[in-house]
Amino acid sequence: MEYDYEKLKMTGKVSSEALEYAKSVIKPGRKLLDVANEIEKFIEDKGCKQSFPVNLSSNAEAAHYTPEFTDQRVVGEKDVIKVDLGARDGTYLTDCARTVCLDGEYSKLVEASEKALENAISMVKAGRRVNEIGAEIERTAKAGGFNVIKNLGGHGIEQYELHANIFIPNFGNGDNTELEEDSVIAIEPFLTTGVGHVVEGESLQIFQGVSDRNPRSADARDALSHITSEFSTYPFAMRWLIKKMGSQEFKARRAIAELITIGDLEPFPVLVEKSGGTVAQSEKTLIVTKDSCDIVT
Ligand code: MN
Ligand code: MN
Repeated sequence: MEYDYEKLKMTGKVSSEALEYAKSVIKPGRKLLDVANEIEKFIEDKGCKQSFPVNLSSNAEAAHYTPEFTDQRVVGEKDVIKVDLGARDGTYLTDCARTVCLDGEYSKLVEASEKALENAISMVKAGRRVNEIGAEIERTAKAGGFNVIKNLGGHGIEQYELHANIFIPNFGNGDNTELEEDSVIAIEPFLTTGVGHVVEGESLQIFQGVSDRNPRSADARDALSHITSEFSTYPFAMRWLIKKMGSQEFKARRAIAELITIGDLEPFPVLVEKSGGTVAQSEKTLIVTKDSCDIVT
C-alpha cells in the first residue's frame, strides 16, 4: 500500500497542537500526572492515539519519565520540563518535543536547543550525511556554551516503528549515512549544562511489547493479552496498563516484571544526565525532500 503522507501530516498537526497545549497546562504546583493525562486526552479528543506515553522529564532527566499511576510529583517553580509526545493514526507515527522552562534561569539553554534544531533542519535534504547534521547541532550547542548529549539522537520513523533504521547523531560522529528522499525522520538535539552523557535512572514506567511468549502466571497472561490488544507493539505506560487491568497496581507491576524476564517486553527506564546537568530538548518530525524537507510537527 502507498505511504499516506497526508495521514502523517494530520497526526503531525495534532502533535504540534498538543505541544502548544502542553505549555498552557504546565504550571508550578500542578501534578505531573494530571498534566500528562490532560495532554494525552487532548490528543485522543482530536481522534488520534499516542505514538508513546507523554514524557515529562524534568531538569537532569533527559527522557522517558512518564508519571506513575499514583504519581504525586508536582511541577516545581524552576523546573525545566521536556514535553515529548506523538499523535498516531493507525500505523502512522509522529514524534516531537519542546522544553518548557518556568523560570528564566535556563532560557538560554532552551533557546540553544531550539536554535540547534532549526539549524539542523535547514541542512536537511536528500543525500545529506547524518554526520554533517550532528556536527551542526554540536556547533550550535558549543556556540551557546553548552554540551550535546552524545548518546541520544534522532532517528528514522516508519509505519509501526518509532525508531527505525537511521540514527541522527547530535555531534559529528563520522557516520556518512545519507538521508533518503521521501523518508520520515525525527531530529532531536539534547543540550545540557552537564558533561553530555545519559545513564539509566530509577523510574521505569514505559514498556514496549516485543514478543508474545506465553508467561507462566495468570496475571502475566492477563497483562499480555491487554498489552497485545490495547497497545500492540507501540510503547505504553504502566499507568495505562493498570487502568486496563482494573486498577490492580501490584498485579500489573508483578506481571510486567515477569514479562520483562521472559523477554516479552522491552523496558525504557528514565535517562538522566550523568553529571546532574540540566537538559533541554527540541524535536520535530519531518519528511526529507530532494532539496530540503517538509516539517510535519
Ligand atoms: Mn524521537
Ligand atoms: Mn521524542
